[in-house]
Amino acid sequence: MERIAIYPGTFDPITNGHLDVIHRGAQLFDKVIVAVSTNPSKAPLFSVEERIALIKEATRKDKNVTAEHFSGLLVEYAKKRGVSAIIRGLRAISDFEYEFQMALMNRKMSNGLVTVFLMAHEKYTYLNSTIVKEVARLGGDVKGFVPENVYRALQTKLSEK
Ligand code: ADP
Repeated sequence: MERIAIYPGTFDPITNGHLDVIHRGAQLFDKVIVAVSTNPSKAPLFSVEERIALIKEATRKDKNVTAEHFSGLLVEYAKKRGVSAIIRGLRAISDFEYEFQMALMNRKMSNGLVTVFLMAHEKYTYLNSTIVKEVARLGGDVKGFVPENVYRALQTKLSEK
């Protein structure tokens, strides 16, 4: 049976930290679905379609990685897609409490769906999409933090503003 994992998040935009987690997951599972959520509580810089396109381009060499949009309850979506594990990334202790609560809630609501926590390389510990956008907005160089296509997309998007 194919072992499929889902990696849910906002990915606004995808960073090298996310990519590192995706590559680790892709070694563990037959297939990794990067699931981009709408998250109404965050005002995104990139639309869901743009975020998916950026992920697809950044992972085009990873044959067992796909990206798609998802909304609603993650456990329901996972069931529909035949997923056996949820992947989440852990950076620092500060991530732990929220992730722990969500993993236990998802376990409670599902039947046998496990959450797997992966740590990216420590050089990405401080990295998140918000700080990348902030630095880029202020004219800082974010080249080492995001894939090349995202770097270009950030420049275009911010020059439109
Ligand atoms: P969310 O809004 O669901 O937290 P994000 O796109 O910010 O979505 O992150 C998706 C997942 O990737 C989360 O589990 C987050 O902890 C993880 N993640 C983000 N950045 C990194 C990083 N630099 N290293 C490891 N994990 C990360």
